[in-house]
Amino acid sequence: MVGNGWIGIRTGRSAALCLGLLTSPLVQAAPGADCPGHPDALGTSRTLVVDPKEHLRIGSMQYGETLPLADHEVVLTFDDGPLPRNSNQVIDILAAQCVKATFFIIGRMAQAYPEGVRKLREAGHTVGTHSQSHPLSMNRMSVEHAKQEIDDGIASVTAVLGNDAAPAPFFRIPGLLRAEGVEDYLASKGIQTWSADFPADDWRHISSSRVYEIAMKRLEAKGKGILLLHDIQPRTVAALPRILHALKARGYRIVHVVPATEELPATPTEPQQWQLHPVSESVPIARWPKAPHFIFTATVAFPAPSLLDSPWHDGVPLPREASPWPKSPPVPPNNATIALPVPAQSIFELQAKPRAAAQQLVPSPHRAENTTAAEREADGIARLISADAEEVVRHK
Ligand SMILES: [Zn+2]
Repeated sequence: MVGNGWIGIRTGRSAALCLGLLTSPLVQAAPGADCPGHPDALGTSRTLVVDPKEHLRIGSMQYGETLPLADHEVVLTFDDGPLPRNSNQVIDILAAQCVKATFFIIGRMAQAYPEGVRKLREAGHTVGTHSQSHPLSMNRMSVEHAKQEIDDGIASVTAVLGNDAAPAPFFRIPGLLRAEGVEDYLASKGIQTWSADFPADDWRHISSSRVYEIAMKRLEAKGKGILLLHDIQPRTVAALPRILHALKARGYRIVHVVPATEELPATPTEPQQWQLHPVSESVPIARWPKAPHFIFTATVAFPAPSLLDSPWHDGVPLPREASPWPKSPPVPPNNATIALPVPAQSIFELQAKPRAAAQQLVPSPHRAENTTAAEREADGIARLISADAEEVVRHK
């Protein structure tokens, strides 16, 4: 990976913090045992080293492969930061539990808050990128434009990390608004496109309790996977301690993902481990006629059509196919009725109010005089992003 211009963690303080984990990726540390001052911490149970070039697209919300996790293993991911007033709290909450996560950074946020990115690296988290300005249009912009967004975002994060480190070759498309050309470009650069296995809808206008409930419900439904969160959201800050506590109480284990380098080979895995649930585990579903994608992508967690109804809608389930929803629903075989996902009550409770949700990203005028210039700039970015998103909503 070094030859490709990607450097994991090479030197400096972050290396000292991380090498202990990286040198023995398969060793199961006793969670909490190595968390000084926090004997009951959730901890990070292992480090998974992945070679992006071997598995270019991951996350069962949209792709056929996801990270090779064992049952009850969870990877935490946070998008859109850093925004210090919230992101710093997320860092502290994770530190108190000795939990390592992956952060997908927006280039312009990195420019506004370089210290926030360096803090992540120093805390040993994995730093991926999430475009330069978070356009919610990568599914319809020109590939040239998308390339610029991707490259500028990486350049911005690289610039604040300094010469001894670079962001991981992990990229999450804003709003998960995937496009073949975008993924192909990322692949050509040896960058892994990260979707997720389930979101917690923390960009919507819902309570922190609801974020907690959704996160745990969707995790329990899948048994493992990549959880998508947003460290810039106050409701996520509020929900996170409860989520971590529940993970510990219910026997879940945190996995930290890092990219392979020349010095750090990928964790050995078998191809079938990169499927969320191998076919043998889902025979009734696999035997359904003709519409396996519909079934797979529409299980428990992902209600359908209001895909773009949120202004800040990372985590939208957009499968690789243009539309996973058949024009008329397939008639299930009689013996498979039980396997049908039952629409959860939550489906009907999660209708966001785009404009209201967008407005919460805009600073209160009463606070304006107390914010720093950098904060105002970042809020400006958020406003820009939400305005863009509202346009998406309007064109729906
Ligand atoms: Zn995002």
